[in-house]
Amino acid sequence: MRIRKQENLLQERMTHLIKKPDSFAKLKVLGEVARFDVSGLPSIFARKQKRFQRFRFIYPAVGQRGKCVRLFKVLQSNACSGNCFYCANRKSRDFPRVTFTPEELSKLFIQYYRGQLVDGLFLSSAIIDTAGKSQESMLKTLDIVRRKYDYKGYIHCKILPGTDESLIREAGGLADRLSVNLEAAHQRYLPRLSPTKDFSGQLLTGLKSIARFNRSRPLKAGITTQLVVGAAGETDREILSLSSSLYQDYKLWRVYYSAFMPILDTPLESQPPCSPLRELRLYQADFLLRLYGFSPEELPFTGEDHLPQGQDPKLAWALKNPDRFPVEVNKADFWELLRVPGIGRISARRLVEKRVREKITRLAQLRDMGTVVKRARRFITLDGRFYPSSKETPVDEKGEQLFLWEEL
Ligand code: SF4
Repeated sequence: MRIRKQENLLQERMTHLIKKPDSFAKLKVLGEVARFDVSGLPSIFARKQKRFQRFRFIYPAVGQRGKCVRLFKVLQSNACSGNCFYCANRKSRDFPRVTFTPEELSKLFIQYYRGQLVDGLFLSSAIIDTAGKSQESMLKTLDIVRRKYDYKGYIHCKILPGTDESLIREAGGLADRLSVNLEAAHQRYLPRLSPTKDFSGQLLTGLKSIARFNRSRPLKAGITTQLVVGAAGETDREILSLSSSLYQDYKLWRVYYSAFMPILDTPLESQPPCSPLRELRLYQADFLLRLYGFSPEELPFTGEDHLPQGQDPKLAWALKNPDRFPVEVNKADFWELLRVPGIGRISARRLVEKRVREKITRLAQLRDMGTVVKRARRFITLDGRFYPSSKETPVDEKGEQLFLWEEL
């Protein structure tokens, strides 16, 4: 493992010798580092997306009706003046620095788009000198893509920390989605990740400015943010309380959770990585907050204020609240049905519609409507009849209950 890391570092330093990389050489570097800015695809699933691994700058997301959308995900530059402790692009790290001109990057993206290799653009950047200067360069790229190439498709534009409100408004006129990375779950954790960023003065302020823009002129694909999980000692309760208030106060579309991975040659290189399972449980709990009517206080945190790792949070909540069950499927309202493990939003809706026409009396009917019967049966009655499980539900149920890619 250590030898492989050293080989990678050597390869990076060799590439450093390239004096004038062409656009494709730049794309190789800037598409690769853009992948550190994970959003939407929990790393536990991301590793399975082998078909995208050849083109590191093509990133899978979920479009309308669950269709896979390929995003051209790239940085305008990796020549950062910032020095965040976890980041591959930090100033003190010795590796190749490259920057796209707006003309070059817009042309490259359009080539891939017209060649039907990608369906949308996700543009971010390191901060060269100032946030304003870097953001302007990104906006110029987007402007060329929209006006010169008449591109009408999806654009996600990252807003850099400290960007002026006027540039944010300009970005809102060009992009479908805007985001600011909050990085930490609270101001007190940010100095452990990013010594020069200001949580409320820069990051939260940026998010507030986008929210203001979004109120007057709604973004087609909303506002998102991203948190680094597991590098600063924050608890799951703190993370999910923040997410809940962001959903309520700023109408965020999504909060993305990025499990910390140590990067060689950074101050956090010897810190252990965050478990992908923790990231997954956070996404599952986030689903409960956004779509299942749960409040952060209801989530089944352990004594250490973390989510239990061995169980889907909805199942853990149900097991902690036996007084709420069994639920009679023919009488419970939509929200009560949603709280039953094994019943998701689609199957709950189907059940509510179906029982207007006929009584639900058999497990097979539930199965036909998409319920995961082996999980639901011990939490429900059908016309007064209880169907205890023949076996206990397995404890580790990762990934089955909720699936959660980035939705555009
Ligand atoms: S400002 Fe952004 S790109 Fe620069 S070091 Fe920090 S996280 Fe990395």
